[in-house]
Amino acid sequence: MKVILLGAPGAGKGTQAEMIVAKYKLPHVSTGDILRKNIREMTELGKVAKAIIDDGKLVSDELVIKLVDSRLKENDCKKGWLLDGFPRTIPQAEALDKITNVDIVIEIKIAYEALLQRITGRRMCECGATYHTSFYTGDRCATCGKPLYQRDDDKAEVVSKRLETYKNLTEPLVEYYTVRNKLRTVDGNLSQQEVFRQVTDILNDYD
Ligand code: AMP
Repeated sequence: MKVILLGAPGAGKGTQAEMIVAKYKLPHVSTGDILRKNIREMTELGKVAKAIIDDGKLVSDELVIKLVDSRLKENDCKKGWLLDGFPRTIPQAEALDKITNVDIVIEIKIAYEALLQRITGRRMCECGATYHTSFYTGDRCATCGKPLYQRDDDKAEVVSKRLETYKNLTEPLVEYYTVRNKLRTVDGNLSQQEVFRQVTDILNDYD
């Protein structure tokens, strides 16, 4: 299965992605995670990406398309994958269509007002785990014990820019995949478990 998760920042893509890859044994390809790893390791790519990400903007299409193209050529991606955070623009979607065929696009749709609260309360661990301050008050990861941190681009001053970018550049993908009959929508306002139930209904149906 080749699956794309689409949704605004804070819609719950990362959480659903973790649950999906665990259940369906798909490799999780997150462009945000790949970029953050490059930033942590201070690679050339990481240096370029950091300033852009911290400013709430998108990294260039050319750069992320190259990243995804080479990642999808790796052995573990031969049979399928879950793409999270890519494509984010129409040119990225067009490039992906040239690289491979996409089976299904799941859009997590959520009320705009909920997003700000969700994003600014989000805390991350290097291991990939994500928490929210409303549900978890610890300052270390419950799984691996490393200290939690807030992404620089999750700070309130950057978030509204990211949401604006989503609306202008990424939301047109809903139409793009609708006309190609690939889009399915789940209600991201519901609990994680309920959203996941809707996601599995879609994926089991496809399987
Ligand atoms: P994410 O973790 O998916 O929210 O990504 C964090 C940041 O990485 C985004 O706000 C962008 O600056 C950058 N990024 C991730 N994926 C892409 C993409 N497909 N195209 C452009 N920029 C991206």
